[in-house]
Amino acid sequence: MKGMNSRITRLGNGIAAAVLLISSPLAIADRFKDIEITASPLAENIYMLTGSGGNMAAVANPDGVLLIDSQYAELAEKIRAKLKTLSQGELTTLINTHMHGDHVGGNAALAANANIIAHKNVQLRLSNNANFDPAGLPKTVIEQSTTLKHGDTTLILEPMPASHTDGDILIWFPEQNIVHMGDLLFQGRFPFVDTSNGGNVQQYIENTRYVLSKIDDNTQVIPGHGELTNKAGLAAELSMLEQTLALVQAMREQGLTEEQMIEQGLGEAFKSWHWNFITEARWIRTLYQATQS
Ligand SMILES: [Zn+2]
Repeated sequence: MKGMNSRITRLGNGIAAAVLLISSPLAIADRFKDIEITASPLAENIYMLTGSGGNMAAVANPDGVLLIDSQYAELAEKIRAKLKTLSQGELTTLINTHMHGDHVGGNAALAANANIIAHKNVQLRLSNNANFDPAGLPKTVIEQSTTLKHGDTTLILEPMPASHTDGDILIWFPEQNIVHMGDLLFQGRFPFVDTSNGGNVQQYIENTRYVLSKIDDNTQVIPGHGELTNKAGLAAELSMLEQTLALVQAMREQGLTEEQMIEQGLGEAFKSWHWNFITEARWIRTLYQATQS
């Protein structure tokens, strides 16, 4: 039996080595090789863009482009090429919804010569990150609701109480009835609440309620991840958040441990919200932590 155990251990090590190989730089480059950037028109000169990482949006005026979020440096050439099909103008402004790598990774490669705008805490956290290219740091920081004009287009940048991170902003297009929620919305998925960067589940739910109270049935809602959605989509997300939090609270009151909650699960109704990054187990752990008094 002992011999068999050590063979199993060696096999285990082999799997660990294979996993390391998969995350080598070569594999990372390959990961982006087949990614295509798509642009969907939402209103005149306003587009939602997808590739890999956080959903982007652009205001592509003939004399200058404003971009929201920058995905990854590896995609900068593809993003630039896609923007050129929308406008011959230069990228003049980049807004970051928050500080995560899949939203700011392309900052330096895309926008070193542009004005980069973000929440004050995004600049703080990125400037403390030795791996972040300083050419991509925010140049303009906001601490309160700020109205910005890009050509004829009005944008309102609204910092939110810490929920996904402590540097989240909403970006409103009041005239076109569009909102980019960044990672305050993971459409149709369990959300990532980054408690190590100031995130907070209760406030995440509060912020979702707040956006719902501000929009109508015609609002186009751009999530940080997932498909373009609307008020009904956001309402479904809120309902999931409230119900799964209540479920974990109830299991806690029944005296279940964290591992027992994961064993029991959230039930069939929430299976479709599970995804590779925030699995059901990880979401339960987040809620468990949030219900600790
Ligand atoms: Zn994020």
